[in-house]
Amino acid sequence: MSRYDQIPDKPYAACEGCDTNFPAPADMKAHFKETMTGGKSHRARITNPTRAERIVNELDNLAEDALYEFVNKAQDLIEEGVTEEEITEAMRSVTADFADFWEQEIK
Ligand SMILES: [Zn+2]
Repeated sequence: MSRYDQIPDKPYAACEGCDTNFPAPADMKAHFKETMTGGKSHRARITNPTRAERIVNELDNLAEDALYEFVNKAQDLIEEGVTEEEITEAMRSVTADFADFWEQEIK
């Protein structure tokens, strides 16, 4: 078992609006539907994420680290005479995409 595996025999999530435990994400979603009134439903806390969710969380952490490094390196452009406004404007045209890049690399 790795840290990405869901803990066996432990509920996926617990409702914060009542005392219901949910074995799986589908049970939680069904409960949200059942308790939906006036655009609001019970909320739940995920205490035992699925393997897929754990992997997404780890990739989000890696992406955040990469973004910090990216922003630091972008700030270095200021030392070369590029203004903050120019960088801000150029950021809107940056096309890098984690998923695209990953797929290119694993080919
Ligand atoms: Zn509930």
